[in-house]
Amino acid sequence: MVDLKDLSYDELGELIASIGEPKFRTKQIFSWLHKGVEAFDEMTDISKKTREKLSQFSFVSTLKIREKYVSKLDKTTKYLFELPDGNCIESVVMYYKHGISICISSQVGCRMGCAFCASTIGGLYRSLSAGEILNQVIFAQKDIGERISNIVMMGIGEPLDNYDNVIKFLHNVNHPEGLNIGYRHISLSTCGVVDKIYELAKEKLPITLSVSLHAPNDDIRNSIMPINRRYNISELITACKAYICETTRRISFEYSLISGVNDSKENAKELASLLKGMLCHVNLIPVNKVKERGFEKGTKEQIEMFTNTLISLGINATVRRELGSDISASCGQLRKKLMDSEK
Ligand code: SAH
Repeated sequence: MVDLKDLSYDELGELIASIGEPKFRTKQIFSWLHKGVEAFDEMTDISKKTREKLSQFSFVSTLKIREKYVSKLDKTTKYLFELPDGNCIESVVMYYKHGISICISSQVGCRMGCAFCASTIGGLYRSLSAGEILNQVIFAQKDIGERISNIVMMGIGEPLDNYDNVIKFLHNVNHPEGLNIGYRHISLSTCGVVDKIYELAKEKLPITLSVSLHAPNDDIRNSIMPINRRYNISELITACKAYICETTRRISFEYSLISGVNDSKENAKELASLLKGMLCHVNLIPVNKVKERGFEKGTKEQIEMFTNTLISLGINATVRRELGSDISASCGQLRKKLMDSEK
């Protein structure tokens, strides 16, 4: 049985043609799928006979809301979604002046092993299909009843470790007959899977690439991010430069400030010389404490000192505003809580 949301628009078209249906059905069905119908019967302008034919070899996948938390401070809404196989993933909806943004997951768990991250505790269970990634946007939008205009792939998982499904998802979510979300309104975050950064550059999608750097040198990065032993900082920065060259898009570097690990003045200076002259922006994130991890954020003064040092050396840097602080909105934490409670 095929999940129709795992198919691209053209693949759906081929399938529709193969059962002898006229071409315009593709547009109708694609659009229904993306509106969040939960069964063929809800596709009211498709004949019963056609719906029956479709249901013999395909289905419409859904995502169940298992838990939902709404921040009293800023409306940030966190979903724990349950997949058909019982696994859970998290998505977070954030309200900004420029529109509504959703942070989505690309895998169940993660095998990248970053020392400060809750999503990687327990390793990787499996990757999500293109339809499962898309369903987070579809069902969150249906639940809030307002259009989601921006997507960040910064939830659970490493998107470039699920490359083909992520690319298919990006094409589908951008499709004018579907949710029609512009590539410029989509960010993808990676811990630095260098070979896939080169591949992504060739796709020529005008999305924003975020790179989780978190350290100014290999010693520190090796100690907190295992991926750095496979692709070191110099290889990563070379790939980022190639990406900028190929796409002319500015890269956003994520840097979680961890007290006593990577947040000294020396670290800021070293980071500035590493990024000097690159078309980039540094997004500083005071580390979110994860119970199992023991890392702490620095004081307000320490964070300001780090930011100002970067800026004074010509690096474009801002501290990320914290949303949903009353609902532990950073990803991986809810799923972790659930896993603990089921032990
Ligand atoms: N695998 C991708 C995307 C998921 S994580 C990546 O590594 O980029 C999204 C961002 O949150 C990454 O920059 C990640 O390093 C960061 N992050 C993870 N745990 C964190 C924590 N406890 N505090 C602050 N940032 C964290």
